[in-house]
Amino acid sequence: MKYVLFILLFNLSCTTMAQKEKSGKMTKKEETPEITKTEAEWRQQLTPMQYYVVREKGTERPFTGEFWDHKEKGTYKCIGCGEELFSSETKFDAGCGWPSFYDALDKNKIKVNRDTSHGMIREEIVCKKCNAHLGHVFNDGPNPTGLRYCVNSASLGFEKKH
Ligand SMILES: [Zn+2]
Repeated sequence: MKYVLFILLFNLSCTTMAQKEKSGKMTKKEETPEITKTEAEWRQQLTPMQYYVVREKGTERPFTGEFWDHKEKGTYKCIGCGEELFSSETKFDAGCGWPSFYDALDKNKIKVNRDTSHGMIREEIVCKKCNAHLGHVFNDGPNPTGLRYCVNSASLGFEKKH
């Protein structure tokens, strides 16, 4: 009888350990961005507007940013780390006052989080490399993707194609 009890206890502790290991792995999978800086460092690097958008998940006022009506050919990069995120090739006028793209250069460079702030359910987009808030992605974009990446100008830098 004692023996059976021992086996039972042993099994139980194994299960708990396995679960612990699993959840531990899951927290690890919640990848830390490649680039991490202190808030003081971010403040030094970014303008107050960029800091408000990128680090505090703010939104610039529509029709006020640098790129909503910007039509030059080139590449839009993350203002936090310089990662190339969007191309002028997929930029379109969504009429909303923010730069909009129907596709990303590489979906693996952008992380999508569920955002339930302001009483809405939206998909927040952040730069995977430095965790900069970019904006949101919606399902009402044009073909061929049907997506609309609505991005703050303050989250972006631009490199002109020569
Ligand atoms: Zn970045």
